[in-house]
Amino acid sequence: MPDNFRDYIVGLDTPVPVQSGARPYINLDNAASTPPFKTVLQEVNDFAPWYASVHRGNGLKSRLSTETYEEARRIVGRFVSADPVEHVVIFGKNTTEAINKLSYRLRLQRKDVVLISHLEHHSNDLPWRAQATVKRIGLTPDGGIDQEDFVQLLTHYAGRVKLVAISGASNVTGHLPDIYWFARKAHEAGAQIFIDCAQLAAHRPIRMGSLNDPEHLDYIALSGHKMYAPFGTGALIGRRDTFARGEPEYRGGGTISVVTPKLVDWTLPPDIDEAGSPNVIGAVALARAMQTIGRIGINVIAEYEAMLTGYALFRLKEVPRAHVYGNIDPAHVATRSGVIPFTIKGIPSNLVAAVLGFEWGIGVRSGCFCAQPYVMSLLGIDRAGVQRVRHDVLHGRRDLVPGMVRVSFGLYNTREEIDVLIEALKAIAKGSHGEYVVDKSTAYYTPAHESEDFADYFAIDACTQESQEG
Ligand code: PMP
Repeated sequence: MPDNFRDYIVGLDTPVPVQSGARPYINLDNAASTPPFKTVLQEVNDFAPWYASVHRGNGLKSRLSTETYEEARRIVGRFVSADPVEHVVIFGKNTTEAINKLSYRLRLQRKDVVLISHLEHHSNDLPWRAQATVKRIGLTPDGGIDQEDFVQLLTHYAGRVKLVAISGASNVTGHLPDIYWFARKAHEAGAQIFIDCAQLAAHRPIRMGSLNDPEHLDYIALSGHKMYAPFGTGALIGRRDTFARGEPEYRGGGTISVVTPKLVDWTLPPDIDEAGSPNVIGAVALARAMQTIGRIGINVIAEYEAMLTGYALFRLKEVPRAHVYGNIDPAHVATRSGVIPFTIKGIPSNLVAAVLGFEWGIGVRSGCFCAQPYVMSLLGIDRAGVQRVRHDVLHGRRDLVPGMVRVSFGLYNTREEIDVLIEALKAIAKGSHGEYVVDKSTAYYTPAHESEDFADYFAIDACTQESQEG
C-alpha cells in the first residue's frame, strides 16, 4: 500500500480480544461505516472553540461559523464537480434523508414512473414507492444493471419516466454501473437522473457536470459516515431549479423569507431545504474528509482498493464451500468496488460473522444489507420462499432469514488483514470455533459461555470520572 494510508485513520491500533489474546481490530465493514480520518477529528477539534450559531448571529464566532459552513458547502460541491451555478448543495443527516427529501421535492404524481434497478438499497427504493410508480430495471447474470432492459423500459413508459434513480455502486456486490451512460439515456428520454453515491463517494471520482452536458447528473446523495467523517452529516446535491420551486418537506426556522399569520414566502435554496439549526461541525468534518481524499487522490485510492479486492477474490477460492456472489473475476476489479458478499454452505451467515467478530477480531456485516429483494433473488429464494421468510420474521424468527456475509474495504485495509480473514474462514468452514447461542428474535449469535462488558473498553464519561476520582 502507499505506506501512509493507515496513518490517516483513527483507532487502528486499538486492541480487541481474540482467541490468542488481543490484536488490533480488523474492520472489513467499511460499506456500512468507516472510521474517522485523523485530519477530520483534528479539524473538528480546531473548529470547536470557534463554533457558534450560523446565519442569524452577528458575533465574530457566528460570522466565522457561517463563513466556514458555506465554505464547507463549496468544498462538497467541488468534490463532486457540481456546477456552482446550476447545482446546489443541501446538507442533511445522510443518504436516506437526502433521498426522502428529493422524493418529496420532485413533486411526483402517482402516474409518474421512477425507474430504479433491482439491486437498490431500501433507501433508494422505499421513498420512491411512496411518491410515484416504481419500475425495476432487471440485472444481467453477472450482477450488472441490464442496459437493454433499461432502454426497453424507457421506451415502454415513454413520457411517463420522470426520474431514473440508481446506485453509483452496489452495497451488495460492489457493481459499478456506467452512471454517465445511464444519464445520457435518461436525458435523451426526457427524464432526470439521481445517483445514490453512498457507496461511491469514498471510492471513485464523481462528476456531476454542467446541465448542458448530456451525461450530467441531476441529483446525487452521499453520507459522511461512509467517507471517514462520521459526524452526522451527508449531502443532497442537485439542480437548483428543482429546489427553487414548491414547498419544503420540513418547515420552520431558516426556510422562509417572510411569515405573516396567514402567509409564508419561502426562501431560496439551499436554505429552504435546511430547516432548523444545521449540523455545522458535521459539515466541516465532511468537507475536511473530502479534502483529505482529494489530497491522497481518489484514483490512487481506487487503484489500491482494486488490488485488495482482486487479492480477496483470489484467496476466497481457498475457502471450502464458499460461494461468492456478483462478478467474481479478479480481472474485473477496476469496474467494481471492494464490496464482496459470500456464503459458506451449511453455516448460517450470522454465525460466520459472529465467529469472525468474537474469535478473530474481524468486523464484517451479515444478513441482507438493507437490500432484501436483491439478496433474496441472489440466494435463489422464490416467491413462496420469500413468503415463508416474511411469515417467520413476523412470528419472531429472524434467525430463519437467509443472508450473506459481506466484507468491504476501505483505503487503510491491507493484504495481511485479508490473510487473517482467509485463515479464519478456512477454520470456520472446518467447524473449528467455539459454541454459540442464537437469539431467535434478533438472529444474533453470541458465545455460549461468555459475556462481555463494554465498560472494559469505553463508557461515556469514564475518563472524566477516573480523572476526578484520581
Ligand atoms: N444507499 C446505499 C447503496 C447504501 O449502501 C446505504 C447505506 N448502507 C444507503 C443508501 C443509506 O445510507 P445512510 O444509512 O447513510 O442513509
